[in-house]
Amino acid sequence: MNLPEKFVERVCCDLGPAEGAALCEALEGPAPVSVRLNPAKDPGDALLQQLGASGPVPWCADGWYLAVRPQFTFDPAFHAGAYYVQEASSQFVGRLVGDVRGRRILDLCAAPGGKTTLYASLAGPEGLVVANEIDRRRARVLADNVRKWGTANVAVTSCEPRKLGDLEAWFDVVAVDAPCSGEGMFRKDPGAREEWSEGNVRLCASRQDAILREAWRALRPGGTLLYSTCTFNRDEDEGTLERMLDWAGDEVVEAPETQVDGAWGIVCGRVGAFRTYRFYPHRARGEGFFAAVACKTPEVGGRRRMAKVRRTPFAPADRSVTDELRRWLLDTGRMRFVAVGDSFYAWPDGQAEAVGVLSCSVPVIYAGVALGRIFKGRLKPDPALAFCAMLDREALPVVDVDCEEALCYLRRQELGAEVMAEGLNLVCCEGRALGFVKRIGGRTNNLYPDSLRILKG
Ligand code: SAM
Repeated sequence: MNLPEKFVERVCCDLGPAEGAALCEALEGPAPVSVRLNPAKDPGDALLQQLGASGPVPWCADGWYLAVRPQFTFDPAFHAGAYYVQEASSQFVGRLVGDVRGRRILDLCAAPGGKTTLYASLAGPEGLVVANEIDRRRARVLADNVRKWGTANVAVTSCEPRKLGDLEAWFDVVAVDAPCSGEGMFRKDPGAREEWSEGNVRLCASRQDAILREAWRALRPGGTLLYSTCTFNRDEDEGTLERMLDWAGDEVVEAPETQVDGAWGIVCGRVGAFRTYRFYPHRARGEGFFAAVACKTPEVGGRRRMAKVRRTPFAPADRSVTDELRRWLLDTGRMRFVAVGDSFYAWPDGQAEAVGVLSCSVPVIYAGVALGRIFKGRLKPDPALAFCAMLDREALPVVDVDCEEALCYLRRQELGAEVMAEGLNLVCCEGRALGFVKRIGGRTNNLYPDSLRILKG
């Protein structure tokens, strides 16, 4: 499908005829392919070679361009969470949030989790990322991606932004990667052209206004607000920020400056106290993207609220099971073990109170790392534990399979019993954990979750 006529008219008017035409031409060309490596999983140079990396994404330490698009579905490293397929421009948000180690970050519009996994890597083990997705089905995909990333510092919630706004001044950083008209995806995703209309632009803009109000309530004084879209549309970018400044006024102050190399082709600007960054595909190597950052003045009234934990579904794990749970994780001194019904989870100790508070206020659908259930004093591990970067591989026998067997495993087919130890085994491919398998005599039971299974032939 051709680019929508009204869109072409508008960009030629906004950017001038020559630059508008250059943008439209770039939108008809091939899209660059890029990934972001998972630093918690020690990806190494061999992986970059296998992926055919052609060079680094200059604005993101773990970002790489690939020479051609591989079939990610058939790469076990992809399923092991060794990298996330993320277009390059979006990776810029990591640069804008600055040093967020140990911080509490809200990613308010988070599915499928590209930016969540980036924030999780940046927040480190002492930090917490609350990744919210309003749409339940998309929230499940988000939770799957969070499990695979394996950092144990993310809580996935699924609610309207208002409920998180009600936490009032609770987050150090709030990121709004807003639902938008998706013009920046016209090259990568032809469906975006079909869905585009001027009516939809208006709908998106008013939705963005409502989301930003809640984001601002959730942000603590002195905290950082990040706003991004994948559209070129001024009404949804600068326009949304201008409308926000109308009601937030001088509560919005400048964020520290972010270094941007002129050679990257990013167009830097200002809207009041917001610093803005535009990615045009004819200038920068990535899809169309808009990002803006500002802070909430520390002088604004009200202090950070710490709601009392009243009713939480999480209970401390009974001491009778904690020795067995500890056996499965490295660095357990920093973890707290909790029970939800008969399932056990581990959370970073420093954020355990926060996850408790969160679970009293909003529906938490996943948090920390799911460890599994205890049967007769032994842990029956949850599939998520295999992906966790803190899994202690001394806890069970490890079987390293080749790529072909790994794909059989990921299709939930039965693996040969000969190479397995009796009982539970961890299945790895090139050292990257994929999941568990149980050998019972001459048979093996594939414990890979059905929801993640590869369906393609
Ligand atoms: N941040 C994600 C990433 O990097 O993978 C992409 C987010 S996407 C641009 C915007 C998300 O906002 C969608 O998942 C959509 O379901 C969600 N959304 C739609 N309407 C919303 C609303 N009214 N409030 C909050 N989120 C909304």
